[in-house]
Amino acid sequence: MNGASEVLGGGKAAGLPDPIRLARGAADEAVPYLLDAGLKRALFVADETTARVIGSRLAERYGAAGGAARLEIIRPNAAGDVVADEASVLQAIIAAQHHGADALAAAGSGTIHDIVRYAAYTLGLPFVSVPTAPSVDGFTSKGAPLILRGEKITLPAAAPVAVFADLDVLCAAPQPLIAAGFGDMLGKYTSLFDWVYGRETAGEPYDEDIAGLTRGALERCVSHAEAIGEGTEEGVRALMQSLIESGIALLRFGQSHPASGAEHHISHYWEMHFLRTGRRQVLHGAKVGVACAEVADLYKRYAAEGRPLPDACRRMLAELPDGDELRRLLRAAGGPRRSGRARDRAGAARRSAAPGACGAPEPAHAAARNQRRIRLWRTEQLQRAYHASVRSAPCGAAAACIPRYSPSRRPCGAAAACIPRYSPARHPCGAAAACIPRYRPARHPAEEMQRCSSPGLSRFSI
Ligand SMILES: [Zn+2]
Repeated sequence: MNGASEVLGGGKAAGLPDPIRLARGAADEAVPYLLDAGLKRALFVADETTARVIGSRLAERYGAAGGAARLEIIRPNAAGDVVADEASVLQAIIAAQHHGADALAAAGSGTIHDIVRYAAYTLGLPFVSVPTAPSVDGFTSKGAPLILRGEKITLPAAAPVAVFADLDVLCAAPQPLIAAGFGDMLGKYTSLFDWVYGRETAGEPYDEDIAGLTRGALERCVSHAEAIGEGTEEGVRALMQSLIESGIALLRFGQSHPASGAEHHISHYWEMHFLRTGRRQVLHGAKVGVACAEVADLYKRYAAEGRPLPDACRRMLAELPDGDELRRLLRAAGGPRRSGRARDRAGAARRSAAPGACGAPEPAHAAARNQRRIRLWRTEQLQRAYHASVRSAPCGAAAACIPRYSPSRRPCGAAAACIPRYSPARHPCGAAAACIPRYRPARHPAEEMQRCSSPGLSRFSI
């Protein structure tokens, strides 16, 4: 197929963005799209980096073609991160109001999209999506995960009216962002399991076609892991197509079940923890990928202990890759090559061996690249934090990680599956709920609260 004419799915009749373009040079098509739709006062929203990548160019071309353009650059927080929080959303809303905007355009990766989708929703304006990295699956979503007063909350928002995913831009994205997109996709292994678990144990709504769409996107991604790690056009195209399809699954189902389970709960907790402690953020997909491997092992242990599980879940668990395999896939797709400890061990072995016995030392640039990956992923930090939470929270890891666990939404779902002592019959509200800072004593036995509440959480540290 000619890449320049490739259009993925989409369609207004189905309530999906139209068009969804994935092609070389697709970003520039956003300009005639807006003008042809009669949208002549667009606000282009970017961060400093993505403004340089594509935002400034789009605003200039839009202005040159007769539109009244304004480029708004979202400012980073004190730690240097651009965050989808109340300050960023308000910055975009005020800029749109001052400009008298009739449309918004998100020129950036996931965070910029979350800011714009909520601003557009609040203002009742359409927005177009111009992704700058294949880093998350939320481009086509209509839910905005925002940080409000330090807590991660997903709010209803607007889906884009059109998506212009430019392979020239996406292939030039920093490698860690590409690897993070793969991590976000890898998380579908556990989110799809959680979804089935919720269906089997609590009658949660489930859609086989939509689950199949997500599964197909995941399988395409996994089969292209090496190409994604090498950053080839084929690999980036496969990854972006998978991310878009996963987002469409979210849109079609109307809730996040197809693409978000325990691994996302843990990722969101880590994100809040980094914010609370004033640390730089780790990429969303990196957190999801690392969490997915840990959750997969936890689920497998749960099954191996002979604990009760519906047959459908037991079958799924048998096919679920274990943590080692998931970590191997993450490395293949460009995630961290080796943990810091493994690297130290290998380095010590090399130093103690006879010269030349272990081959040439790692080239300096490769070592630097690996160091950068490790810093960006902080795999060991995340794993340590996770295991600390297992030790300190009697109800188990996931529960300790889920400040906003919602029993009504997932009575037995993601978190519950992580909790060895969980028993829906005994704890209709979920044992997980007992671990939650927003714990409501009136609804739970007092001893649960004492066993599971803040002392454990306060020992959680990264
Ligand atoms: Zn995600």
